[in-house]
Amino acid sequence: MRLSWILPCFLLVGAQEPTGVGYDDTPRLPGQKWRVHDKARPAPPVVAPGAHGAPPSDAIVLFSGADLSAWQHEDGSAAKWKLTEGAMAAGGGDLVTKQGFGSCQLHLEWRSPNPPKNDSQGRGNSGVYLMGRYEVQVLDSWQNVTYADGQAAALYGQQPPLVNACRAPGEWQSYDIFFRAPVFGDNGALASPALVTVMHNGVLVHHAQALLGATAHRAVASYSAHPDRLPLKLQDHGDPVEYRNLWIRPLE
Ligand code: MG
Repeated sequence: MRLSWILPCFLLVGAQEPTGVGYDDTPRLPGQKWRVHDKARPAPPVVAPGAHGAPPSDAIVLFSGADLSAWQHEDGSAAKWKLTEGAMAAGGGDLVTKQGFGSCQLHLEWRSPNPPKNDSQGRGNSGVYLMGRYEVQVLDSWQNVTYADGQAAALYGQQPPLVNACRAPGEWQSYDIFFRAPVFGDNGALASPALVTVMHNGVLVHHAQALLGATAHRAVASYSAHPDRLPLKLQDHGDPVEYRNLWIRPLE
């Protein structure tokens, strides 16, 4: 293929125009408006991926180490968590984002205190609450036994992770969370549950797992209808768990 053909195609891809490459006489895909290999189907937008967990070009950066301006406490007061060498440490109450989110891709890194203190749920406890109500547990689960649905990367009180991929206390760990928000009908009844996929340190620990409802302690979770977008929450459970490099990509 000549270069003069390749270049216009590349530019078209960046503009989300139809690729112009493919077919217009193939069968239609069930449930889609497109044919198989449809030449009219637009190419996905191009983004520059970030290296080593850095945010891609279309991400909303929630915390880069510099300031807490994307966050506040639930009563609307200024975020009191301490900034510590490019990270923020839990203390002073749960933090919520000022912006609301629904379905999303979320990346974050966390580190539990070293040396560790206490046992079970008392060791490095925090949590990532999608939409402020669906917790992916943060806990030091390195040689620390607790109930299975409460360990690191558990969907708290509902589903243990497929494996324990926890690093030692004092080491940075990553969560990559892919979340599809629940859908409620006009009458407030649940139409489809939330689905969560989680990578812990690059290891798949939940795969399109359906949630039973909003996180509960010593009770079965259940849903109650809520808005399409709600703040993300980080739990202050009394342990100075640190976070860094938080970014999110709304998927809507
Ligand atoms: Mg927790």
